[in-house]
Amino acid sequence: DELFGAYRERAAADAAAGEQGLNAYTWVAEETPAAPAASDAAPLAGVPLAVKDLFCTEGVPSQSGSRILAGYRPPYSAHVVEQLTAAGTTLLGKTNQDEFAMGSSNENSAFGDVRNPWDRSRVPGGSSGGSAAAVAAGLAPWALGTDTGGSIRQPAALCGIVGLKPTYGAISRYGMIAFASSLDQAGPFARDVSDTALLFKHMVGQDSRDSTSLQHPHQIELPKGVDLKGIRLGVPEELTGEGVESGVREAFNQTLALAEQLGATVETTHLPHAPHALSAYYLIAPAEASSNLARFDGVRYGHRAEADDLLSMYTRTRAEGFGPEVKRRIMLGTYALSSGYYDAYYGRAQKVRTKIAEDFTTAFEQFDFIVTPTAPTVAFRLGEKTADPLEMYLQDFCTVPMSLAGIPAISIPNGLSDGLPVGFQIAGPAFSENRLLDAAYVLE
Ligand code: GLN
Repeated sequence: DELFGAYRERAAADAAAGEQGLNAYTWVAEETPAAPAASDAAPLAGVPLAVKDLFCTEGVPSQSGSRILAGYRPPYSAHVVEQLTAAGTTLLGKTNQDEFAMGSSNENSAFGDVRNPWDRSRVPGGSSGGSAAAVAAGLAPWALGTDTGGSIRQPAALCGIVGLKPTYGAISRYGMIAFASSLDQAGPFARDVSDTALLFKHMVGQDSRDSTSLQHPHQIELPKGVDLKGIRLGVPEELTGEGVESGVREAFNQTLALAEQLGATVETTHLPHAPHALSAYYLIAPAEASSNLARFDGVRYGHRAEADDLLSMYTRTRAEGFGPEVKRRIMLGTYALSSGYYDAYYGRAQKVRTKIAEDFTTAFEQFDFIVTPTAPTVAFRLGEKTADPLEMYLQDFCTVPMSLAGIPAISIPNGLSDGLPVGFQIAGPAFSENRLLDAAYVLE
């Protein structure tokens, strides 16, 4: 109870400070409930848990960073939230995020920008920026995020903490407010790899309410790696070139040198189709989003505009409820899916996606892991990239290929550049999380 109370006070103080604070939370628990007794069934009894706003939490606001869902309190909780509650955790708060998880800087939230605890004039990354900032600032011991194209890994990197995007299907998406269903995956944030593994262990599990969820073939273990003897690391030339700023590259090279000292072999390799990943992603994700977001019509959830007839109620609700980035994606996606353009855009993007997955399969015949910088830059200033969406999309350059391939990838902190944290990304074959966590543990 004491642990929860201490975190609750800090989180509530940050929430009360609004944009004077980090603005990491959109809702904080009002009281400290009596902790359940620790037991084998509830090993995490009383441990506070911060949860990204887009996870449904029964009776607690779940707004996905959007005005259109303002005040929405779902009648049920997401599968992962259910599982973690069963394991004993207590909901500490809901964290701020980019609207419907669209963004890389947390500047697209209807509930205000989130600030980076390392430098409040800078962004925490996104879209799970509230979760990352909260963990980095000690406003939560750990947190849930989601990653569709990088939204766990990139904010983890920019805030100097650990973030894991699991294999697609390892965790049920039931109760996650959908962005792009073939890419969305829940995952943990923590300050170190052991805690990341512990939280992940309680998140995995097949669930009949998500037809794409799978039974993880391995029992998730806490990391126990001691060295990297015999581990082969592949550095893809396509993802480590020009776009990566010099301080990030330096930190990356230092970690590669450390990996070699610890017994790994490091070799350059190729993912020939990876340079097309961003183009494919920014067709597939908006296409799926345009379909998923059709349900927000003012009838069933959240905000409803005043209007005389049904059609103007729909259009006004959506005009008032969605922010500019969400509207941009809906238009992009609707266009890409329209008849006559489908083959040229969506169909083509799906083919590129398959090629990217094949590139990884080929690379993993030769390497245990593929490593890259997590993000091409350190945390940038608030407002610096908001004028140019394409510039913002480049943040996802190193993370989107793994999302398209559905494979797991982790970001660990690997030093500073200009006093700001840098992230190192390790990606492995589907369901290799145990080995991935082991390697990350040795390198962190
Ligand atoms: N920045 C990417 C986007 O805006 C990724 C977001 C995410 O992973 N949810 O789509």
